[in-house]
Amino acid sequence: MLERLKKGLTNFKDVTYKKYEQLYQDLEQKQNPHTLFIACSDSRVDPERLIDSEPGEVFMIRNIANTIPTYELSQRDLTTVSSVEFAVEVLGVKEIIVCGHSNCGGCAAALGGREKLDHLPFTQNYLEPLESVKEKIEQNHAHEDDNAKARLMEHLNIIEQVEHLKTYPWIKQKVENGELGIEGWHYDIKTGSVLVYDEATDAFHESEKYQSEQ
Ligand SMILES: [Zn+2]
Repeated sequence: MLERLKKGLTNFKDVTYKKYEQLYQDLEQKQNPHTLFIACSDSRVDPERLIDSEPGEVFMIRNIANTIPTYELSQRDLTTVSSVEFAVEVLGVKEIIVCGHSNCGGCAAALGGREKLDHLPFTQNYLEPLESVKEKIEQNHAHEDDNAKARLMEHLNIIEQVEHLKTYPWIKQKVENGELGIEGWHYDIKTGSVLVYDEATDAFHESEKYQSEQ
């Protein structure tokens, strides 16, 4: 085991566990998270720290480029779909966050062309649903520079994944009934800022601004 991991385990038991000891004991038999958080697997993305949550608050799904297959293509990724199903239908989360981020390698790979991923056949196959997002950028934003295209790919991917969630009848119904909210977030690693997608304006706004508008 890496020394860093040994040290982490020791620190968890001696410091973190002690800090939340009562909470951990209360959580032993039951979890009641308010939010399902779907984030990229990227090591620089740290959802619990980002929203300052405590153990038991967030049900987490992480995969490359924070993707969810559409209902029609749900068999492509049963790991993600079954986790969404459990969070919504059993745990009854009130909110789903789809959280993308800056410099996302998965989005960059999809934008760069899956044909370059012959050495990563699983990833090549996994990223296929992002082709439609890539095509939107090639058709409508070909004149933009590479950085703008990369950011756009991340933003459009977030919007796309939020839409994918709404193709599931049991999610759509809860959203329409006001029992479930879905938001798309974009986390900027360098600045620590989160932009929140606003469907009404079809734009991403600073989270601070978003909060003050509510
Ligand atoms: Zn990523």
